[in-house]
Amino acid sequence: MEVIRLPADMKAWAKEQKAAGKRIGLVPTMGFFHAGHLSLMRLAASATDKLVVSLFVNPTQFGPGEDFAAYPRNFDQDSRMAAAEGADVLFAPADRDMYPEGFATVVSVKNITNHLCGACRSGHFDGVATVVTKLLLLSGADCAVFGEKDFQQLAVIRRLVADLNMDVSIVGHPIVREADGLAMSSRNSYLNEAQRRTALCLYESLVLARQQAAAGILDASELAGRIREHIVSHDGTAVEYISFVDQRTLAPADQVDEHTRLALAVRIGKVRLIDNGLLLVR
Ligand code: AMP
Repeated sequence: MEVIRLPADMKAWAKEQKAAGKRIGLVPTMGFFHAGHLSLMRLAASATDKLVVSLFVNPTQFGPGEDFAAYPRNFDQDSRMAAAEGADVLFAPADRDMYPEGFATVVSVKNITNHLCGACRSGHFDGVATVVTKLLLLSGADCAVFGEKDFQQLAVIRRLVADLNMDVSIVGHPIVREADGLAMSSRNSYLNEAQRRTALCLYESLVLARQQAAAGILDASELAGRIREHIVSHDGTAVEYISFVDQRTLAPADQVDEHTRLALAVRIGKVRLIDNGLLLVR
């Protein structure tokens, strides 16, 4: 596996692969890999000839007071794990090379970023959309894989690729969970033992909502009330949002149907966790 640091070198590599007729797969990440990341890499590798994994903790998608400086990093371990998954390139640029002096462009996706994480994290999706646009262009990706764990992010990327006529297929990967149901996340490493137990309330909320919906309770505000009650019964939790949305448009849903996804953001102490899932699983 080749480690590429400079955007210009990434572009040159991609150009060479294209000339040789290779299809390039990209998995954009912020590192500190877990089985979720590895599963995305496996999917991208199986769909293409060459796999590029990008590792970039993107400063522009963190707000003031968020965890950019504290975000977990372990380059050596990540590098070994990506190589073991068969990555051809680990693209790990420096901040100054991605955003050199004078950088002034923002890719901003409207409407679908107005609620959920977009409402709580001002500017977050501008940062995501801008960096992903750069990563897609630099890597020459024919296919890029994103996790459904960040469901709104996946919708934003699909929108920008369609709107900007980019020639890349965007593939979603289901959420990879720990044995007890907690969605894997690099941020889980912030949790102490008690918080780790509390964190399960997100997945439990999803299970609870599915059980209630299966029993015929389809009113979104009633379900949200029950979930809130369950979450706040745990010490040290603060609900950021409990939302029911149509997964095709991310528009709020009043009544649950087969397109409805529950999306949650909850703080466990200072750690912000998200989860989501369809409610009527057939
Ligand atoms: P991150 O490094 O957290 O920015 O994540 C990089 C990619 O991995 C994103 O597309 C995430 O949605 C995806 N991802 C992170 N955690 C999971 C998970 N538990 N299951 C599936 N995909 C995930």
